[in-house]
Amino acid sequence: MSKKRAVSAKHAELSVKLSSRGVARLQGRHPWVYRSDVDLVGANAEASDVPHGSVVRVFDPRGKFLGTALYSSSSQIAIRMISHGSVADLPALVAERIRAAIAYRKELVSNTDAYRIVFSEADFLPGLIVDRYNDVLCLQILTQAMDSAPVRAAIVQTLREELQPEGIVERVDPRIRELEQLPPRPSGLLQGEKSSTVISMNGGRMNGDETNGVRFHYDGLEGQKTGAFLDQRENYAATAQYAHGEALDAFCYQGGFALHLVAKCSSVTGVDSSRPALEMAENNATLNAREIEWIEGNAFDLLREYAAANRRYDTIVLDPPAFAKTKRDLEKALGGYKELNLRAMKMLRPGGLLVTCSCSFHVSGADFLEVVADAARDAHKSLRVVENRGAAKDHPMLLNVPETNYLKCLILIVSN
Ligand code: SAH
Repeated sequence: MSKKRAVSAKHAELSVKLSSRGVARLQGRHPWVYRSDVDLVGANAEASDVPHGSVVRVFDPRGKFLGTALYSSSSQIAIRMISHGSVADLPALVAERIRAAIAYRKELVSNTDAYRIVFSEADFLPGLIVDRYNDVLCLQILTQAMDSAPVRAAIVQTLREELQPEGIVERVDPRIRELEQLPPRPSGLLQGEKSSTVISMNGGRMNGDETNGVRFHYDGLEGQKTGAFLDQRENYAATAQYAHGEALDAFCYQGGFALHLVAKCSSVTGVDSSRPALEMAENNATLNAREIEWIEGNAFDLLREYAAANRRYDTIVLDPPAFAKTKRDLEKALGGYKELNLRAMKMLRPGGLLVTCSCSFHVSGADFLEVVADAARDAHKSLRVVENRGAAKDHPMLLNVPETNYLKCLILIVSN
């Protein structure tokens, strides 16, 4: 038996006992249990003895075995369930789950070479995110257990075997490593030579026409994240279906919506406060041989000015950053969404299209509908909900894990 195996076998001996509240969380099929509901038991009961990212056996207060979890010595989320049975070999289980996640995408994702391959809890791999950008894969590791050397090796090997990428890039979020008490490490290539590429999404037959798809530059090692927001991919295509006339894409980033609107609209303007994002958006427009007007500025101010100047549009997209990062921000966030939506509604011509999004997990689907309805009342407009959408299918939502349901995208038509 190799040394590595001996160590992981020892880790597998570690146990935790949950409070009845912790047990209730698991029975509700949520994989997380907070530290206040977790007691370490057995030989390694001292928290300081527990190695980073241990695999622990989980018991209820009476000693009934509930399954196996990944343990974090620093996060408030002390355990994340990985199996309802025993786990002898974590790297092998991770490899198997990655293969299952890839198979799921093969079934459900089409017309794109850019999509999420592994989405953490939603793929039963807590703390691992892998995105495919054509021939370059980008992975992010967010928990202690996924960061261990044997698990990392299994992740890279499985991705290589299954997808044969030209490069695998790791993007490190230093803040998360600090929170998880993991040693700092740089972003960089883990495998292969290639870290930048061109992706193409929503090609194939769309709305009855054969299309080549919309192309975007991707660079996994650029300071700022590049590429498109993969979770919005199907919303881009849905929006393109109804878009017409003069269009405004507010919070356009590198042009995800704008570049999808341009084939259907007489003119498209994109607004964002980030100059580097707009420079990349212009590169993307050139790549697609399209013309779009980009404006650097605060979208709130611009909408206010344009509304005051009686500017009118036929299509407006609102895709702001998450306004509510915590529950405490909720009221303020709702105020922000209301203001934006109200201004956009006032600027839309009759029959106009409003595509309005929220990626704040703390704003529920019901909250968001209510705030948009509230804006419509104040704007004296009736709007029809053409589609009530969420994230693309490669970002699966787990029914009992509300955290996996964060993106809302309403497609509305102003009816008078
Ligand atoms: N719609 C984009 C994603 C938007 S992400 C896509 O599909 O690709 C949110 C964007 O809002 C970021 O690019 C950020 O730079 C921009 N942003 C944040 N605050 C802003 C503000 N007050 N005015 C304009 N843009 C803002």
